[in-house]
Order: sequence, then structure tokens, then C-alpha cells
Amino acid sequence: MTGARRGATDTFEETLDLYGAFPRLSDYQVRALEQHGERVHTAPGEVLFREGDDYSCFWVVLEGKVATYSDYGSDEEMQIAVHGAGRFLGELGVLTGQAAFLTAVACEPAELLRVPVDELRKLVTQDPVLGDLVLRAYLARRSILLEVGAGLRIVGSCFSPDTRRLREFAARNRLPHRWIDLEEDQEAEALLNALGVSPQETPVVIWRGSVLRNPSNAELARVIGLPSKVPHWADCDLLVVGTGPAGLAASVYGASEGLRTMTFDAIATGGQAGTSPRIENYLGFPTGISGSELAERATLQAEKFGAHLHLAAEAVGLEYRDGHHVVLFDDGSAVSGHALLIASGARYRKLHVARLDEFEGHSVHYAATHVEAHTCIGDPVVVVGGGNSAGQSSLFLARHASLVHLLIRHEDLGRDMSRYLVNEIERDPQIHVMRCTEVRELVGEHGVLNAVVAQNTRTGERWRLAARALFVFIGARPHTQWLGDQIALDDHAFVLTGPAAANASNGGWDTGREALPLETSRPGVFAAGDVRAGSVKRLASAVGEGSMAVRLVHEHLEKSAHWQIHAAVNA
Ligand SMILES: Cc1cc2nc3c(=O)[nH]c(=O)nc-3n(C[C@H](O)[C@H](O)[C@H](O)COP(=O)(O)OP(=O)(O)OC[C@H]3O[C@@H](n4cnc5c(N)ncnc54)[C@H](O)[C@@H]3O)c2cc1C
Repeated sequence: MTGARRGATDTFEETLDLYGAFPRLSDYQVRALEQHGERVHTAPGEVLFREGDDYSCFWVVLEGKVATYSDYGSDEEMQIAVHGAGRFLGELGVLTGQAAFLTAVACEPAELLRVPVDELRKLVTQDPVLGDLVLRAYLARRSILLEVGAGLRIVGSCFSPDTRRLREFAARNRLPHRWIDLEEDQEAEALLNALGVSPQETPVVIWRGSVLRNPSNAELARVIGLPSKVPHWADCDLLVVGTGPAGLAASVYGASEGLRTMTFDAIATGGQAGTSPRIENYLGFPTGISGSELAERATLQAEKFGAHLHLAAEAVGLEYRDGHHVVLFDDGSAVSGHALLIASGARYRKLHVARLDEFEGHSVHYAATHVEAHTCIGDPVVVVGGGNSAGQSSLFLARHASLVHLLIRHEDLGRDMSRYLVNEIERDPQIHVMRCTEVRELVGEHGVLNAVVAQNTRTGERWRLAARALFVFIGARPHTQWLGDQIALDDHAFVLTGPAAANASNGGWDTGREALPLETSRPGVFAAGDVRAGSVKRLASAVGEGSMAVRLVHEHLEKSAHWQIHAAVNA
């Protein structure tokens, strides 16, 4: 989808509205809002808010028309919509506190209702119909801005790790942006010259006409209005590290059950699930839900209950001081809590092959469920990996795909795979095992894979394997480096919990009680979701464990109070 220049036809806007982005408020809703705001008149050309401004008001058009633009006043100006009576302005930032990515300008004399944004945030939580209408429209408007490439400009080379970092940060936080590749894009050099920036100073982020030279994630977050600032020192009931499904669920339950809850993430809310274009197997969403929508909704829900979320805040260490768990952050700040939930998740190991991110989500998968299988019925697929997940997935996919090429890096299929799987695979004519073979190239267009180029590492022979999808099962790496040696981990660096953790604490478990199910080797520190040894590595189980952890935190707090009294009496 492309944007429209000034003077766009209604047809273009109708196309946009397929997303449900531009609903009209009912008379009843306008009257209800009127009690919290004031009527104002605007002249043609009057700017109501500009790109980069903080949203201080929620605007409803009562009469006349107001247009919204990205890059207003520049050569790249693009009209996004024209709002008439009954429609409201703004997008997701109104609810989340992010800066405006649009400029709103009255096209003709107009009458508007101006409601302070804090009032709106209260109203949407009290009135579920209004809340849902506004939230749906704002989520859809954010999708439009992401598609048309409004917002930030990131200029940098595709070979630069910092360019990749900034792009990942913007993408995972669903910040509207456009990447201008220094290597490929003709306009990059002219743009840098105009800004007085040399290619060596890239990557740069251009926002509101100013240039941020290689900003850190935290700097970028601050400029955009993401809640990034970690208090220099704070004390709370529950600290949560990670805002994937497990951390968000714990934040919602923790805050809603009255715990002073502070939650931190190195990058963005949503974790791995937030990167999924469509989650089809999460309970209650029969038509599926995008990972980003799930993350936005959960974030707003956690904040509604009073959880304090901080992004671009990477935990780098853990200490235990005076009965408190202290998490240290990359900017030197530290936060302490009576209980801590480790929900820092894991990252699937990825293949080192060019163009991987182009195909991820559409043709490259890290799970093989019915959802992924449906995308390649009757087509050939490639599976990479020599463990049980690769084996089970190959057998499952063989029932749907025309052919499964199973690529393993070594000679012996039985080396890392259970014998029963090896036997079944060897009997299955739909599975073609390729030993000592690695992926070298991905071939396809627009995110759709056509073939995989594979090479035998012994002979050097290369094949072009027709493939509609590539399934990668080469293990997951947990995010546990920040724990140092403070918490017991298993051989693969996942966090041990329950009795296994108490046993691994080498006699350090002297609480006078059994370890709780999600409790780690340190009493009062819990782990939930993919980071936990033995966890199921699914969205629903991460949400379940995050919610359950809060119940266990209550239990720990009660028991530790009893234990302290008991210990004091017996001293
Ligand atoms: C592309 C994709 C699609 C998927 N689709 C499905 C699906 O359809 N159905 C399903 O059931 N499952 C699916 N999964 C699996 C599911 O998303 C995961 O099981 C789930 O996200 C795990 O949640 P989590 O909260 O435990 O951890 P994660 O989602 O991994 O989140 C952990 C968070 O912690 C943060 N973090 C890490 N280290 C630090 C640190 N030091 N300091 C601060 N923050 C830190 C990370 O930035 C991240 O946001 C999918 C996974 C992927 C990658």
C-alpha cells in the first residue's frame, strides 16, 4: 500500500478503512466525551499537533474537516486521511505516550472537541465499547503508518551491526520508520550531504529534521517517548525482567493483585511472540492475532493496572543485598524488589545465511504446527537440524508436504535423535535425509521462498532444492548471561526451578520449606516461560507460567514473613 499526496480521493481513504482505522463515534459517545473536554474552533491551515509532539489532547471532529499527514511540509509529504464529523484524530501514541508520527491540519473552518489525554485514558478503561473502538482504530492506524514508511528515517549500511540494531529496535517496538540503505539507495548519499553527515558517521536516525548519530536504543526510546528511563534506585514488591508473554502476564496479574510491579525489557514488549505476523493457536482468537497486536494490548492492560514498564533497559547483573533482589542495568542504575521473576526468554538459534530476515515469518519457521504445515501443503520443504524437534517435525510435515529434505550437519542421524524417530524417518519415503549438508542460500521473492541452495561439506557438491518453506530446529539460546553465577542453570544455560533448583543450590536452600514450583535456586526468585529449563516453549504456556508465578510470589512473601518471625522467635 502506498500513501497519497495532498488532495487524495475518497477511494484511497476507503481502501485504508478496510483496516477499521477510521470509525465514527456515535452521538452518545460524543456527548459522553463532551463532559470531559471543551469545544474549540479552528481556522483553515491551523495545525492541531505536529509530528514529534507529545499528544496532550484527544481530538474529535464535530464539524468541518481535518487532514493528517506524514512528513508535513517536506518533499515527502503524504496525506494519510481526512477526518470529518464524528471522527477522532491521533494514533496509538495517544494511549501509549509515544510522540505523534503525524501532523493534523484543519482543511476548512472546523469545530472540534478537545479532551485532555489523561481523561481519555481513564475513559477508555471505564467504557469498554469506547475503549475497544479507539484501540482498534489506533492499532490499525499504526499498521498503516508502518506500511507507508512514515516516521523515523534510519540511514545506514546493511553491513553495519548498529544499523541492524536500530532497525530491530524500531521494528520490534513497531515504530513507524523507513530504512535507507547506504549501499543500495540512490537517495542516501544526497540525504547525508544535505544533513552534513559523512558516511562514517552512520547509522543516523532522522526525526523531526534533526539527526541522531548512532543513538543507543535508550536514546532513541527517549526521543520517541517510549517508557525507557530506569529510576536510579527503586524498591518494589515484584521485579520482572522481560516483557515477552511470560513477563507481560506476570505484570498484569502482579499489578492487578496489588503488588508494586516494575517490568523491564532490553528491547521491546512482546518478546518472540511480538515478532510473529499471525498467531493462530492462542486460545480465544479463532481467526488468529498478530503478535504485535497481542503485545500492544497486553502492554496497555499491564499499564492500566499500574505496572511500571521500562524499555531499552537491559539487565546486566543480579545481586542479593539485605534480603532484597537487586537487578543492575546497562546504564548503571539498579532496582530492588522483594521478589524477582526471570522472564528473559530465549532466542531460537538462526542460520547464518543471507536474506534470512526477508523470509522469516512467511517461509522460514522455528516451529512446525498445523499453522505452518498449512502454508506448504503439497509443496516440498527443507528441515534443518539433527535433534528430536527436527525429527518430530519432519515426520509431521511429511504428512502435508510433497517432500521433506532433512539436512543434518554430520553423518549419523542417530547421534542426537531418539532411535524410534530415526527408524520412522528412515522408513518414510516422503523424507529425504541429507547428511553433512548445510544451507548456503535462500532463493525467492517478496518473502516467499522458492528454493534452498544446500552444500555437502565433505564433497563441496551443491544442490538447488525446490522448497516452499524452511524449518529451522538448531536449538534455542536462553537469555541468562545477565544472571552470572547467581542462579543455578542446567547444562544448556536454562534456569532450573523447583526441586531441581533447590538440589542444585549445594545446601544453600535453608528456608525451612520446599522450593515452590517456579522458584529458582534463590528463594524469592522465580522463572517463567522459555528461559526456564523444561518449559514447553509456547505462547500459552509462557502466559500461564507468568500468571502462576504471581500466585507463587504471594506465597513466598507470606511464607518468608512467617519464616522471619519463626527464625526471630527461635534465635
Ligand atoms: C517467529 C515466532 C513465531 C512463534 N509463533 C508461535 C505460535 O504461533 N504459537 C505459540 O504457542 N508459540 C509461538 N512461538 C513461541 C512463543 O513466541 C514463545 O514461546 C514465547 O514468546 C515465550 O515467551 P517468554 O515470555 O518466555 O519469552 P520471550 O518471548 O523470549 O521474551 C523474552 C523477553 O525478554 C527480553 N530480555 C532478554 N534478555 C533481557 C535482559 N538481559 N534484560 C531485559 N530484557 C531481556 C527480550 O528482549 C524479550 O522481549 C513463536 C516464536 C517465534 C520466534
